[in-house]
Amino acid sequence: MERTRYLVVGAGATGLAFADWLKTDDYLICEAQPEVGGYCRTVKQDGFVWDYSGHFFHFKHPEIERYLVDRMGGQEVLRVQKVARIWDEGSWVDFPYQKNFHQLPKDTFIELLVDLLTKDETYETGVPASNFKEMLYQKFGRGISERFLIPYNEKLYATDLANLDVDAMGRFFPYADIPEIIRNFRAADNASYNATFTYPEGGAIQYIQALMQGVDQERVLLSEPVISIDLDARVARTPQREIQYEAILSSAPINRLMDLCGVSYDPEVYTWNKVLVFNMGFDRKGLEGVNWVYYPDTEVCFYRVGFYDNIFGTDRMSIYVELGYPRDAVIDEAEVERMRLRVLEDLKVVGVVDEHELVSWHSVTLDPAYVHITRDSIDDVAQKRAMLAERGVHSLGRYGGWTYCAIEDNIVEARELADRFNAEKA
Ligand SMILES: Cc1cc2nc3c(=O)[nH]c(=O)nc-3n(C[C@H](O)[C@H](O)[C@H](O)COP(=O)(O)OP(=O)(O)OC[C@H]3O[C@@H](n4cnc5c(N)ncnc54)[C@H](O)[C@@H]3O)c2cc1C
Repeated sequence: MERTRYLVVGAGATGLAFADWLKTDDYLICEAQPEVGGYCRTVKQDGFVWDYSGHFFHFKHPEIERYLVDRMGGQEVLRVQKVARIWDEGSWVDFPYQKNFHQLPKDTFIELLVDLLTKDETYETGVPASNFKEMLYQKFGRGISERFLIPYNEKLYATDLANLDVDAMGRFFPYADIPEIIRNFRAADNASYNATFTYPEGGAIQYIQALMQGVDQERVLLSEPVISIDLDARVARTPQREIQYEAILSSAPINRLMDLCGVSYDPEVYTWNKVLVFNMGFDRKGLEGVNWVYYPDTEVCFYRVGFYDNIFGTDRMSIYVELGYPRDAVIDEAEVERMRLRVLEDLKVVGVVDEHELVSWHSVTLDPAYVHITRDSIDDVAQKRAMLAERGVHSLGRYGGWTYCAIEDNIVEARELADRFNAEKA
């Protein structure tokens, strides 16, 4: 049997940031996939650079960004002023919709404005909203909610928003009060958590490669999933070996981690969506001056399209297209092919494609992609993480913590745990 002090399950941003920050090399990383990176991976094909899905970076901690960029060997990191729009029945509205709906045709604008200003009569403001959908109605009124916020987010999450917690999107949801909205009619102030973003020329994988510089490659076991964990004996099994550990850091989805550990839980508490991503490269340039577009229209199969060529400044349209599915949906080859054709048709409907020829494409399914954060999931995850941590298994990361976050959050959280271990062993 092999022995290690720290067993890391998963070589995504979380697992690698943890190993990078540890002050010992007494660790092993098991990664189920044949390569590192988790969801932060990049595909290079026929001259196009695509991520697993649009991955752009908004660092709140400049020192973390500096740390990563310093390890990129001088490669350029683009800093881009974000231009995001909503395509609303043929009209363009700047993101966030709730601050820019004055850009809609006048009649629609007035309807939405009246709903916003009279919302208290319809949706008792002051009574705390009990779910995400109620919160939207209370804050923005019927028009804005039903025209954009609800259909868009229901396409993405593939669930009724009444199932989600009020704060399901945390800091990623752009709130705005009425004075702010009204002021924005006169002078745009679309500040949001990601008003500018950075993007390395080589794609999102550059951040992973930067973390990898502090990780011993020999301690990364690729294509080697952890298939069971004995919490009492502190032994993990892979198809190739048994590993005796002192502590585990796992970034696997917490429900799957509980399966590995034989911990029982209510599966109905853990729901999520899948996202089918198409990366598509065309023979000529397309829409210019926009980084990504949101599509609330339920007749259009995708909820978002992003334009890599407008970030890189290249002359062939290079896009990612995202489609939301419920957790139980089957996304097999036939479904991918059916939806690839449908995506091309819908891209024509919304004016992204006209005479363009598709010259290269790639697809990936993210499962899970967005977890459904509910009152029950918040309580159960907190309780199960505490119980597992007491037994030496620390469940971290976007899916280990069953949360909505960015890679920077993963790095911060992983470093905190590594610091704790570093201090204990000092
Ligand atoms: C659609 C979408 C868009 C996003 N956009 C952005 C963005 O623009 N900017 C940003 O900062 N973040 C973005 N994110 C979030 C970002 O992808 C995540 O925060 C980050 O990749 C999570 O890293 P992680 O290591 O926690 O998890 P993961 O990337 O999921 O890595 C977990 C790893 O564990 C492995 N694993 C699982 N089970 C086992 C097992 N039993 N044994 C061994 N290995 C196992 C997996 O194969 C995987 O490699 C986005 C996420 C999604 C879904």
